[in-house]
Amino acid sequence: MYSEDEYLWLSGIQHFVFCRRQWALIHIEQQWDENYRTVDGHIMHEKVHHLLNHEKRGKLIIVHAMPVSSPKLGISGECDTIELIKDENGIALPSLNDKYIITPVEYKRGKPKEEDCDAVQLMAQALCLEDMLCCDILFGFLYYGETRHRIKVDFNNALRTKTENIIKEMHDLYKKQYTPIAKKRKKCNACSLKNICLPIICRSKTASNYVKETLALGAEK
Ligand code: SF4
Repeated sequence: MYSEDEYLWLSGIQHFVFCRRQWALIHIEQQWDENYRTVDGHIMHEKVHHLLNHEKRGKLIIVHAMPVSSPKLGISGECDTIELIKDENGIALPSLNDKYIITPVEYKRGKPKEEDCDAVQLMAQALCLEDMLCCDILFGFLYYGETRHRIKVDFNNALRTKTENIIKEMHDLYKKQYTPIAKKRKKCNACSLKNICLPIICRSKTASNYVKETLALGAEK
């Protein structure tokens, strides 16, 4: 069990799966470089979160921006949307006086990616909800703004194990305060931190040292 001050950001999982170094730059070294992709993603999230926090449509209740956490995994964050569908086979929610099937839905800018970082992030949300509500969640959905389509994600054993192992690895790196060295790959072109990471130049340096050195050079001019 982790204490609250050891919790890592759930939203960091997508950074970690995309690139360990990107995650470390953001979450260990506190570097940030918002490019178009991340800014646009924030706008989309704001649109979702500015809707009323609860909506009711017949048997369906939609909850927006629900805080979630798991002491077992040591993560906390927020679910974009949770759909509660009234169903005899669901779990009892005393505050709603009925049984509901719980389904997390995560909103993403763009289209489905080759890597499964979005599915892993959604799985982590579901693991938190399972911990909080003592229930099993069998699937969730990823909605993509560019295709305006949502994809079902089955929470099978392989995805569960992969997600738990990734979170363990995040805690391990965080504890060591270790930023992996840069490896230039095709994905670097789409990276929101490429201007800070500078994969070729700072192969053996931390980004914070690079930024300090660059600022010092600027001050000398
Ligand atoms: S530029 Fe490449 S190596 Fe650097 S953080 Fe981004 S994806 Fe990772």
